[in-house]
Order: sequence, then C-alpha cells, then structure tokens
Amino acid sequence: MRLSDLKTGESAVIVKILGHGAFRKRVMEMGFVKGRKITALLAAPLRDPVKYRLMNYEVSLRRTEASLIEVMPINVSSVKEDNRPEKDAGSHLAFASDHTMVDDGALDEHSHGEFVGRRHTINVALIGNPNCGKTSLFNIASGAKEHVGNYSGVTVDSKTGTFRHGGYTFNIVDLPGTYSLSAYSPEERYVRTYLKDHNPDVIVNVVDASNLERNLYLTTELIDMDHSMVIALNMYDELRRSGAVLDYEALGNMIGVPVVPTVSRTGEGVDRLFDTIIQVYEGKNPVVRHVHVKLSQDLEKSLSEIKDALKRDKTINQQFCARYLGIKLLERDAEIEELVRESKKADELLALRNRQLEYLERHNPGEDISSLIADDKYGFISGALAETMKQPQEQAVSTTHILDAFVTSRLFGFPLFLCVMAFIFWFTFFIGAYPADWIQEGIDWLAAFVKENMAPGPLKDLLANGVIGGVGGVIVFLPNIMILFFFISFMEDSGYMARAAFIMDKLMHKIGLHGKSFIPLVMGFGCNVPAVMACRAIESRSSKIITVLITPFMSCSARLPVYVLLIGTFFSAHAALVFLGMYLLGAVVAMVTARMLRRFFFKVDETPFVMELPPYRVPTMKTSLRHMWWKGKQYLQKMGGIILVASVIVWALDYFPLGNADDPSRDSYLESVGKTVQPVMEPLGCSWQGTVAIVAGIPAKEIVVSTLGVLYTGSDEATDQALSTRLTALNPATGEPDFTPAAALAFMIFILLYCPCLATVVAIVKETGHWGYGAFTIFYNTAVAWILAFAAYRIMLLF
Ligand code: GDP
Ligand code: MG
Repeated sequence: MRLSDLKTGESAVIVKILGHGAFRKRVMEMGFVKGRKITALLAAPLRDPVKYRLMNYEVSLRRTEASLIEVMPINVSSVKEDNRPEKDAGSHLAFASDHTMVDDGALDEHSHGEFVGRRHTINVALIGNPNCGKTSLFNIASGAKEHVGNYSGVTVDSKTGTFRHGGYTFNIVDLPGTYSLSAYSPEERYVRTYLKDHNPDVIVNVVDASNLERNLYLTTELIDMDHSMVIALNMYDELRRSGAVLDYEALGNMIGVPVVPTVSRTGEGVDRLFDTIIQVYEGKNPVVRHVHVKLSQDLEKSLSEIKDALKRDKTINQQFCARYLGIKLLERDAEIEELVRESKKADELLALRNRQLEYLERHNPGEDISSLIADDKYGFISGALAETMKQPQEQAVSTTHILDAFVTSRLFGFPLFLCVMAFIFWFTFFIGAYPADWIQEGIDWLAAFVKENMAPGPLKDLLANGVIGGVGGVIVFLPNIMILFFFISFMEDSGYMARAAFIMDKLMHKIGLHGKSFIPLVMGFGCNVPAVMACRAIESRSSKIITVLITPFMSCSARLPVYVLLIGTFFSAHAALVFLGMYLLGAVVAMVTARMLRRFFFKVDETPFVMELPPYRVPTMKTSLRHMWWKGKQYLQKMGGIILVASVIVWALDYFPLGNADDPSRDSYLESVGKTVQPVMEPLGCSWQGTVAIVAGIPAKEIVVSTLGVLYTGSDEATDQALSTRLTALNPATGEPDFTPAAALAFMIFILLYCPCLATVVAIVKETGHWGYGAFTIFYNTAVAWILAFAAYRIMLLF
C-alpha cells in the first residue's frame, strides 16, 4: 500500500521509498526511513497536500509524492506513539557503546589545540535544520548591536556578526537551514561550500530539542566530517514543557560532542554555550572525542577500503576528512565526485567506489545504498536516544493541533487565509500610504527648497529633478516595504506561513509552482519590488525563479494612474469591467508564462514539496521589528545606488541637449529616443508622445502619466484643460485625435505588461543572482506587451 492511500487518522509503517534523486534524499533525511511509524493527520482544504505526523513532528506531502512511499498499515492501538523499531535500536545500541575508536587517519586532523593563545578570534558557524532557532541564537549572541554584515549568496543569505565573550572575539555566521550536507538543495550546497572555503574554528550545531530525532541526522553528518563542534540543544524550554527528560550530558559523552541546552528566545544557556565553545577551541573540553557513527558491517567494510585509498592519495582536497568523503562517494554525491576528480588518481578512486557499490548492491538486492546509510544513521540516533531520553507517558493535545484543526480546515481555511491576506495588503498599501505621503511631502519640500535657493543651471536641475526626484522615488516605498516585511516575518515566525503554503499548494501546483509562491504574487499588486524580495522564502530554486519572473505581471499600484486616466477618458461606461480586465489580463499572462517556463526551462522542480509544518509559536516583537529594519536597509542599500545612477541618466536624457531655452521645439534626447522608437510603436496606434511616456516610464511607471502631461501641453489656452481633454483633442497634423479607445486600450495593455520598472529589474537580478534573468524580463515582457497590445488594437479597430 502507498502512503497516499492512507486515510486521515490512520497510521502505517514505512516500508520503502520509491522515486529518485532529490525527492528520495530529502524525504530520507527528513526521517522517512524503513520501520518508522507515520500517521495521516489531515488534508488541506482542497484535499492536497496532506499533513502527516512522523518522528514527533509534522510534515506535509503532496499526494503524488506520498504515492512514492510504500507503507504497511498498522492497527493504531497496538503500536506506541514513539515507534522505534526493535531491531535497529538493539543493534545500533551496540555500536553506540563500542564507538570509542579514534580515527587514525592522516586526513582526519582537525585539532586546534596548537594555535591556542596566539589568536584571539574564534570563527563560529551556526548549522542546523530550518526553524531550529539559529537566527534567534545569532541575534541574541551577537546582540545585533555589533557590526552585522550581510553576505548574499546566489540564492541564499548568511549573516555575520562580531562580539566579545570570555576574552575572545567571536565571528559568528548564521548559515541557512539544512537537513543534511549533500548537494541537492542550494542551502545544502551553500553550507558545505562555506565549510570547505572558510573552515570555521568551531561549528555550533543548533538542534531543536523538541524534535531531536530528526535534528540529529544532520549531527551524524557533521560527526562524519570530524570538525570541532558543540551542540546547542535549543528550544530546551519546549522539551521541558513536554515532560520529556533528556540526559544530555550522557548523550554528549556518547557522541563525543559537548551538548549545551539553550533557549535562544530568552538567552538562557547562551553564555555557557560560548564558554563551552572556548573550551573546545582551546582543546580543553573533556567530552570531545572522535566517534564513528557506525554503519552496518558490509557498508563499513566498503567504506574502509575507499577511505584507505583516499588517505593514500596525497593530491586530494584536504578540506574534508576521508570518512566523510567516502560516505558521500557511496551516496553518489555529485559534488564530492567533482572534488575527487581533481585528484591525480581520480579514475582509480571512482572505479574502486563503483566496484564497492556493485558489491553492496549485489548483497542488498533491491536496496538503495544511500537509503541503507540513512537507515543506519537513524538507527544510531534511535539507539542513542533510547539510552538517554525518556518520553512522557501521555502526549498532551497541543495548541498546534487545536489551531490547525481550524486554520487548515476545509470550512475555515480559505476564508481565514483570504482575510489575513486582505488585512496585510490593506495595511501595507493603504495604511502604508500615510508615511509614504509624509516622505513624499518631505521630498517635494526639499526639491522646492533647492529650486528656490539655487542659481539656475544644470546643477540645480540635476539636484532637484534627477537626484531628489530619483532617490525620492525609491524612498517613498520604504514604509510599504517595511510594513510588508514586518508581517511576513510575523507569519514566518508564528508558523502561519507554512500553513498558507499548505492551503494554497494545490492551486499553485496547477501552474507548476509551490504554495509559498502565492504570497509574493499577491503582494505584487501593491508593488513588485517587495514582492520579488519576498520570493526569498521559497526554497525550491526553480519555483522561486519562476515566481520572481512572473511577479512583474501583477499590476502594481504605480500602473494605476494610467488606467485611471485612460479608462476615465475612454471607457467610463464600463470602467469597472475594464479595470478588472487589466488585473485579470496580468494574472493570466503570469499563469501562462509560469506554465511555459515550467515546461520548457525548468522541467523538474528539484525540491520536492516536503514541507515541515512547525508548531505554532508566539513571535517576538523584537524579531519581527528587526527583520523589518533589515529588509528596509537592504532595500535602500541595494536599490538606492543603482536607481540613483539610472535617474541621473534619465534626467540627463531629458535635460540635454541644451538648445535655445526659448525654443520649445528642441528635442531632448529622451524625445529623440521616443521618436526613434516610434516606428515600432506605430502599429499599436501609439503617438510619439505616448512612446516617449513609455520610454520615460522604464525607471518608474509613475512617470508615464506625468510625461504625458508634459508632452500634451497643447496650445497655450489648452494648458489648463484637464489632461483627458488634451488627449482627445484633434491633432492638427493628422486632423484626428492621437488617442482613440483602441489606442488607449493598447496603451494600457502595453503599460501593464512591458519591461518592469528599474527597481524591480534590480530586485530580480539580486534575488535570482544572475543578470540574465533581468535581461530576460526586459525582453520577454516587452515582447509579450507588444504582441498583446497589437492584437487588442487590431481587434478594437474591427468594431
Ligand atoms: P532558524 O530558521 O533556525 O533561523 O530559526 P529562527 O531563529 O527563525 O526561530 C524559529 C522559531 O523558533 C521562531 O518563532 C523563534 O521565536 C522560535 N524559537 C527560537 N529559539 C527558541 C527557543 O529556544 N525556545 C522557543 N520556545 N522558541 C524558540
Ligand atoms: Mg534563520
């Protein structure tokens, strides 16, 4: 029977994982291993995905993915909640107690004892599963008042902070959350590359005490790496509250890694953690000892042959120890293979690995070697926990269960979600409009001040229109961005974000995306820039890129003035319908684009929808405010510079060449550009003024209407007429008005779809980590805009 056939409330034991590659790897590291008990808890309102309970935590899986897991149904009453398979627990217990052997390998030297006293800086890296409290620990340890930098990787971020403790300066880095150290997800690759390139002095492995079994899987991989390490047993308050008792000192002794309980939300235990780190760094901690997470006999045998060969090879990369390299080779880790290929004896090594794999596969028919390794590791963990941890007799009904019964229920799930979204949207863009207005007033005042007090000339114009206007256009959105990220942080911390993704996943899956893509897309209706920035929460790289690329089709508020002007002028009889039509058109183009991208460019979604549903937690105000501040700063820093340059360029194009000031017929470069592009826009029924407005709107779409206003000044007596009247006035050259309903509709469609504003393009490049995606957006969106505007214009002409 397949897991997908399991009915709500029923339990089963996992028999086998079908499927391949990333999916298989991910579910294994998340605890889907042979012999584990799994319970179907509830289905999302649209019946897909389904929430399961496994190893004392909750996880959601799509039905298609659940159908790749073979299970055997069990009678609920006959199995205890905490089902640890007898055989594994027994056999690995033996390993757990005979693992005192110390690796003698030449490659396995990571002792830091000798440097002590010479250097007074300790580099510490925080590594742990997503949501185990790394960032909270980082913030409380670094106080976030010392220098905090922001390094942005390709798709993932890490933060560094510096602070002093116990006579040492600590450089601490908060790495992205990972379930293991393989090469399947960008986070995993990032963390492993970080370890390889930066080789921190001590790793702090943050583990969630309320979910120990799964969290310790990563620990076993870190033990394989044989790196100086301390375990921060975080969320210790939750463990205490649950009634479970853990002899963490015994656990630490058993695995040779000091364990320090912490509550990083309050700071409890953090001082002791850093004292322990110092001890480990100085080589004075009695617990530290190299231990092997023993695998089954035939695996160990193959492993030791590979390990010996690796140790003999002096040309191999020395950053990882031989045991770790050997295990990863047996798991067919592509990146480690690459690393081994750099060696002179690469062919020999890989041939040996293949021979060993063949041998192992022959002796374990139908089994996948990396599953065997994961099984053994979970067996080791079970054994260690069986000796040191006592689960409470009764499992209390948690608040999370009660809340989830409501929040993800078929009846209330969607209405509640829509209310939350509506509230956030309203608060971000309508309440946020007040501070935005104040900022705008300040900017206007500053511009006016410059205009009044400076001698006329290019410098004054540059300051007033170029610099203040351009940078002002960026700062104005700051309140919206900060408010939005306050809510996003709040939702992430509370655990609601995961539920939102859970509810929306089925709908988003229809266009090849992930449940988490929904929130950025909705935010796009307000402003595309924060929407693109919000895509960071999407773990799956391809889903993230697709979401980033379709976000600009969400009609942002800057495009609204164009609709207001043209719909009011030409379609007042059907205003509501045309308005709605514009928003819908954007959404439809986004959906079609997403499906195409999924179909032709990102054929497989490399990250399966296996999503942890963390328990609800009350977010701390401090965290949310800090996140808001962080994002605001990032926005100003990253956008500010480029937008400033762009605004100055556009200003220069508009200002130069300086003709005779009395001659109104001089063409600025901007107008020349507009007129040069004009033949391309002619088929859309666009006047040259319209074309100039479109070009001027590239930095920011707010500029479109004001440009039209400047260009359609008309005759002297017409200047104080409303812009709508001026647009419909007869053009003396053609004897017809420039804008007709057909031309107006085409113009609106073009504005809706064409190249997004510069700030959005910059955000796209930053978020995807590649300028190519920015270029794609510019060309693809403009092409789509042209084609649809052309079609609309021609169809309208028929009537
Ligand atoms: P990260 O994903 O590992 O960086 O985890 P975060 O630091 O973002 O924390 C995830 C959630 O756990 C947040 O809601 C925190 O407030 C909460 N949290 C962190 N540490 C603790 C702790 O020690 N005890 C409790 N009860 N909650 C914690
Ligand atoms: Mg974090």
